[in-house]
Amino acid sequence: MSSYAGLREQVLEANLEIVRAGLVVLTFGNVSGADRAAGVMAIKPSGVPYDRLSADAIVVLDLESGDVVAGEARPSSDTPTHLVLYRAFAGAGGIVHTHSPYATAWAQACRELPCLGTTHADHFDGPVPLTRQLRREEIEADYERLTGEAIVEEFARLDLDPLARPAVLVASHGPFAWGADVSAAVENAVALEAVAAGALRTELLRPDAAPIGADLRERHFRRKHGPAAYYGQQR
Ligand SMILES: [Zn+2]
Repeated sequence: MSSYAGLREQVLEANLEIVRAGLVVLTFGNVSGADRAAGVMAIKPSGVPYDRLSADAIVVLDLESGDVVAGEARPSSDTPTHLVLYRAFAGAGGIVHTHSPYATAWAQACRELPCLGTTHADHFDGPVPLTRQLRREEIEADYERLTGEAIVEEFARLDLDPLARPAVLVASHGPFAWGADVSAAVENAVALEAVAAGALRTELLRPDAAPIGADLRERHFRRKHGPAAYYGQQR
């Protein structure tokens, strides 16, 4: 048994799931999962083809120091972004980064993703924000870490609850999504791609389509989230 076997298995499965869900272009995609009690996160190794991934190849790092504590491979090059997000968003237990086509289109258009309907409101309590462009010195310096800092900065600026708005579009790049655990993060990444596709089609049909009304948006978000949630089976 390898160390952190359960966490690594979960993260392996989630990385395969985003491929099955059609979110991965080439190797642009990585899922991580955190074990807060153990103070670690596990993430896909860098540049390993999905069909050769195994639980043992998943790399485990200390959340505070970023040091590798288990695994032989080099962790995903986006690891510093994941670390920044776990440190800033205490409720996040899983993070997904992909270049999924529709969410990436909005990121490349440098537009936030407007909340146009109930599918969006079921997962995100308002527009999915867009980060500011990184400055030249940020791109040249500690690019992946500063990508994470730009995400955290935008959530602070807008005073958003990261678990109520569990995704972001990184300008000219692509989406990150997260959730309370790894499977919630994957679900939010899949939902993000679906609502990004839906919003694009909505704007094609009606370029001046208005955002969903606040009453309907709140009703949909609250029936799945928070103390009064009643959607699905009670746990
Ligand atoms: Zn990327």
